[in-house]
Amino acid sequence: MDGAAIQALVLDAGGQAFQARQLEHWIFRHGAADWDACRNLPRALRERLATRARIRDSAVVTVDTASDGTEKLLLRLADGETVETVIIPDGDRLTLCVSSQVGCPVACVFCASGLDGVRRNLRSGEIVEQVLHARDRLAAAGRGIAPARLTNLVVMGLGEPMLNLDALVAALDRIRDEEGIGLGARRITVSTSGLPDRMRRFASTPHSYNLAVSLHAADDALRRRLVPTARATVAEIVAAAQDYFAQKSREVTFEVVLLDGVNDRPRDAAALIAVLRGFPCTVNLIPWNPVDRIAGLRRPSESRVDEFAEQLRRGGLNVTVRRQRGADRSAACGQLRLRQLAPGDASAPQDSRSQRPPDFG
Ligand code: SF4
Repeated sequence: MDGAAIQALVLDAGGQAFQARQLEHWIFRHGAADWDACRNLPRALRERLATRARIRDSAVVTVDTASDGTEKLLLRLADGETVETVIIPDGDRLTLCVSSQVGCPVACVFCASGLDGVRRNLRSGEIVEQVLHARDRLAAAGRGIAPARLTNLVVMGLGEPMLNLDALVAALDRIRDEEGIGLGARRITVSTSGLPDRMRRFASTPHSYNLAVSLHAADDALRRRLVPTARATVAEIVAAAQDYFAQKSREVTFEVVLLDGVNDRPRDAAALIAVLRGFPCTVNLIPWNPVDRIAGLRRPSESRVDEFAEQLRRGGLNVTVRRQRGADRSAACGQLRLRQLAPGDASAPQDSRSQRPPDFG
């Protein structure tokens, strides 16, 4: 619910407008998870509200903690579907990675999130609740009282956010609210597999978030094999990203999941340099995290990743390399959910990617 809907709810329950704002503070600033926690609302009002609405619609069912402090939460939604949310500590940053859909329709060949397709879009509240659960977790772990500790948010979990744009924008409005969760737009990054029309629609919304574009390869034929549902060409995707930068003056990052012998060759680096040179962007290299059910792909060696990064830098590009996080747990996005769906893998639904290695020639 946005502020107007919460106000209508409170008025309908016999409360007053100022009590609607108090309720928003309880839920989003203080993290109240049930009506009894909203202590300065009269008991009778709380009881009437409880017959009309639930404060939370999802619950944490599994927490997978890696030795580097990365925590992957598996949330069960009201209809029994599950999504992942990941808390990633990194120096003085504490980044939360949230999902935008149940599963993903994009079906990148290296990704666990898309293995079983998409089940549905998340509602805006289900996106916001991922932040609330993460804050609960941080407070319980004694790392301080949220929200001060969450420093960044990335929409890079399950799903293609641009295919759930209305709910995403409503959720980000709620997450930005200074009287609530209060995470500024500059600290929020939305990641897309590269849908130019949707990227331009996102650019036309009022607030300016950082944009990450999963490019993976600058050669159209290779990219279509990595992202089989892609319709736009690399040139069209880069043009939409340049338009976003021109309109929003916000950082654009191009993500490249590096696969050994597939898209980490010198000619792949040269193709990236050719399409991105002159665009003030960052290329983020992500050495692939192996996934249980995906055969035939390998993570490149560290020296190969370093050589690739160096070639891009020599070509004039700004490059970062993502260190592997949560390596001793289900590090790859979507993997914890996959294991929960199919414990032991015996009854795991199979798809062509798990049956035979992708053919990259
Ligand atoms: S990498 Fe992203 S866009 Fe591709 S299938 Fe996975 S979640 Fe979807």
